[in-house]
Amino acid sequence: MEMDLIVRHARIRDDAPLMDIGIKDGRIVAIEEGFDGSATQEIDAAGRAVIPGLVEPHMHLEKAFLHRRMPPIQGTLDEAIRITGILKGKQERDDVLARSRQVLDMAVRNGTVAMRAHPDVDLIQGLIGVETLCELQDEYRELIDIQIVAFPQEGILKSPGTTELMEQAIGMGADVVGGCPYNELSWDDTKRHIDIVFEIAQKHDLPVDMHADFSDECTDQRFAATAYIAQKTIDTGYVGRVSLGHVTSLGSLEPEQLEPIIALLQQADISMVTLPATDLYLGGRNDTKNRRRGLTPVRALHEGGVNVAYSSNNIRNAFTPFGKADMLVIGSMLAHAISYGTPAHQAAILEMGTVNAARSIGIGRDYGIAVGKQADLVVLDTYAVADVLLDMPPRSWVIKRGKVTVTTHYHCEIHGRGCCGHDHEGTQHHTHKKTA
Ligand SMILES: [Zn+2]
Repeated sequence: MEMDLIVRHARIRDDAPLMDIGIKDGRIVAIEEGFDGSATQEIDAAGRAVIPGLVEPHMHLEKAFLHRRMPPIQGTLDEAIRITGILKGKQERDDVLARSRQVLDMAVRNGTVAMRAHPDVDLIQGLIGVETLCELQDEYRELIDIQIVAFPQEGILKSPGTTELMEQAIGMGADVVGGCPYNELSWDDTKRHIDIVFEIAQKHDLPVDMHADFSDECTDQRFAATAYIAQKTIDTGYVGRVSLGHVTSLGSLEPEQLEPIIALLQQADISMVTLPATDLYLGGRNDTKNRRRGLTPVRALHEGGVNVAYSSNNIRNAFTPFGKADMLVIGSMLAHAISYGTPAHQAAILEMGTVNAARSIGIGRDYGIAVGKQADLVVLDTYAVADVLLDMPPRSWVIKRGKVTVTTHYHCEIHGRGCCGHDHEGTQHHTHKKTA
């Protein structure tokens, strides 16, 4: 059988020989040493590390690249809320599309093959985030799979009319029901918010992905909803279909308080998505000494068998001033923040940005480097998988559904071939042609 593409001499595992990967009709059909098939196109990875495509499970595109519109002066959370609130009320279609494309282009070049976007669905910006994402989903279909969450950032009970907007968003094509249960006025409203999210999800048979427990403390019940959500997940038969972002207040619990919650999360098979670029920046702001890191307890969750992933969340706005939509940068940041430095820990971080992230957005079954899986791969310009997180190397080739979407060539005058990528002339291409 003639292949569409063969990736030769791929370093898939550091403790196994180099492999050739045969790809046909967008799928991996062979992984063999010295594969004797032929193909329309061949890539010689020449021993470079090959990993499954990176996955961003939690991204806000329509709020990206607002950092120069109203630059913060103090850099406080209050200021970020105020600035973003003003800017969000003035969103315009073409501008949203342009800034969203900036993020998507970065993500594609950095080897991201799937993204779950969380556009705000509320009375301030209406459905502009969903509308633009529906267009982008189509425009970028050959480069990256985009899922759309109907995300009620401003609350549901606090902001009457939001349920109707969420229903409209689903009618337009939103794939996931979002939630923001901490943004309500009382614990009763928080519980009702969660119930409504599940009611909408069940009605349309869609998965759930909520922003939850986003605070340094869980003394206020509105920021201690994880156990309620996990129980609700079990009661509604939604096991394995719920993801939660932030969940930072869990980090303030004593180990004996955390233990039963971890057991419940595991039973509900809830994926936890930590957002270190935002959470490290905003967390512990009122601490006057030993400032908290403000992250969900990743180590305890991971060791407790919970599916943990990470993501960028925001790119360059008052809540998250940095970011270039590179999952390896976020992975490195997380590794530092949670002291995951052993070889096993480093491997776990890479897994959280690939396999775990894929599972957290419900695409795990068709994902990975194995025969029969969708051919979404990244060839990195480094020669051991164990070096990927350390080098954060150029993405030599990105492959989406069996097609090369990005090629990065670095020509090194000293070594001849693409070596480290740093301090040398570099060019990068990706196949996306903008229509507008
Ligand atoms: Zn978010």
